[in-house]
Amino acid sequence: MKYHIDTIPVWDAYHQGGECPLCNLENRLEKSYVDSFLGASVMEPDTRIEVNKTGFCPHHFKLLYDAQNRLGLALMTHTHLKEFMEKFEQRCNAVLKTSKARSAFALSSIIRGKKDMQQLTAELEEWLTVQHHQCIICNRMSNTMNRYAYTILYLWDTDKEFKKAFESSKGFCLKHLTLTIKIARETLPAHKQALWLADVIPLQIKSFHNLEQELYQFINKFDYRNQNKPLGSAKNSLPRTIQKLTGKFMD
Ligand SMILES: [Zn+2]
Ligand SMILES: [Zn+2]
Repeated sequence: MKYHIDTIPVWDAYHQGGECPLCNLENRLEKSYVDSFLGASVMEPDTRIEVNKTGFCPHHFKLLYDAQNRLGLALMTHTHLKEFMEKFEQRCNAVLKTSKARSAFALSSIIRGKKDMQQLTAELEEWLTVQHHQCIICNRMSNTMNRYAYTILYLWDTDKEFKKAFESSKGFCLKHLTLTIKIARETLPAHKQALWLADVIPLQIKSFHNLEQELYQFINKFDYRNQNKPLGSAKNSLPRTIQKLTGKFMD
């Protein structure tokens, strides 16, 4: 798969610094999607059709709810609910129909009815799980994050200035390290993949070691004998470590 490159936001994210440039990008992207879904996007027919079909995951529903545009969110939620209900009723009616077949007298129809019911119930369960997790914001963010990860690899490969910025960065969080490894595997020839891994892995290991030291310093500060020792950058090492492990900012 070939992605479009998008260098300006990637450079901005590296200038911003921190534990992971892709977290910086994702954070900014998420805010702009939440704003757009409560603004102009509410009225765009294509987006409405997609929202009606997909809805939002629990995390993004909460962000949209907290953004305080209750009318915009109520309109989208109402049409999505109606579309969901229609599909839900169709599937449930099919399950109910086969469960009724079980009460028929003939043994063969009981056995057949039981098998159909179990299969349809399993399908209903699977479908409900998908409904619960699918999200138009997650889908759009995922496409853009793939493009940003690809841009990082492209700049690392072609731009000496960027390579320097990359080498003095702290690598990535685990979530985005996984993403860059995946995009590298999908888009780079084997010898470049190997070069990429040879660059990124030592950077990650160094970054984990530094964080571990800072977190240890932070823990020791709770000992009254160390109360007067300056903490410096270790002061916010706990939220930075959690971000490194999860890809989630704590503030
Ligand atoms: Zn990240
Ligand atoms: Zn989502």
